[in-house]
Amino acid sequence: MPSNELKEFIHQLPKAELHIHLEGAITPETVLKLAKQNKMQDTLPAKDVDGLRKWFQFSGFDHFVSIYVTIQNLLRTPDDFALIAYDLGADMYRQNILYRETTFTPHTHIDYQHKGLTIQDILSGLDQGRQQAHQDFGVEIRWVFDIYRNLAFINSPNSEYNPEPAEKTLLYAQAGLGHGVVGFGIGGNEVGAPSAPFQETFLQAKQSGLLSVPHAGETMGAESVWEAVRVLQADRIGHGVRSIEDPELIEYLRDYHITLEVNPTSNLCLHVYDSIKNHPFQRLDQAGILVTINTDDPPLFNTTLLDEYALIADAFGYGKQDLARFTRNAFLATGADLETKQSLLENFDSQVTNLL
Ligand SMILES: [Zn+2]
Repeated sequence: MPSNELKEFIHQLPKAELHIHLEGAITPETVLKLAKQNKMQDTLPAKDVDGLRKWFQFSGFDHFVSIYVTIQNLLRTPDDFALIAYDLGADMYRQNILYRETTFTPHTHIDYQHKGLTIQDILSGLDQGRQQAHQDFGVEIRWVFDIYRNLAFINSPNSEYNPEPAEKTLLYAQAGLGHGVVGFGIGGNEVGAPSAPFQETFLQAKQSGLLSVPHAGETMGAESVWEAVRVLQADRIGHGVRSIEDPELIEYLRDYHITLEVNPTSNLCLHVYDSIKNHPFQRLDQAGILVTINTDDPPLFNTTLLDEYALIADAFGYGKQDLARFTRNAFLATGADLETKQSLLENFDSQVTNLL
């Protein structure tokens, strides 16, 4: 365990987080609230918070997906989206996270689950929640809209590519410009769902002013990260940890300043690595890669951003200077507008000087 002094530092450090999923950040308390509001308690496996907390405990990928789908199904109205965005901001305040770039998958809510929601419903809810959180807690929330890649290959691996999920997500992300959407991503299982068919959509997203922030190098190795940088012109990589398997790729990521959004506990839960000691975080850092610390789906992996910093510090013996450096990497790689980014960085630098 890190010392109490280092733990206190981790809390006081003004942090930015670049990789967290909106639905994967919903707590058991909020799940219950949403279910009651929408009279959907019978869709849940438990009737109280304790029961839901037990259900949340990670026990394997299939269980993880079933929780995720159940949570998505509970989101029915603009107010529901306002509630979860506001909760996300309250959690930021508790952990002293000043900026969160949060991934959300609009296509699954609008076109896949037929709930009668429009992109305007969702954007107005998200806007309301994030603006209220900004007002009450002073935190900045931005969005990455992403494609669930496996929906584009329904009968993968041999099915034809279905362009609808990507094209619709692009339209939703473009509608979200000016509503806090700053990035365009893709997630899901990389196996049997290659990046090449998504090239044109990502190109258009970048031309619209969005960052390209695909997940890659999690369920597959370096070749998937190569695809993400070459085909999707990634500005950052979600995970990307398995890049360590290819020295040439490591050189490329370093030379082009492509930041990795590392999620240590998520990688352990999903068996990308069997122990934190075997996790490549430190080797990536030593190779000169811009690494950042993130949570992915914190309540589902029973973690927080504070826990992730403590885990990394403990596993690799990092001290205050190193942890501040990883946070700075995150502030540098945000997709926020220049003015917001500059003010966040100035604030970070001045606060850190007093903390070190
Ligand atoms: Zn993720």
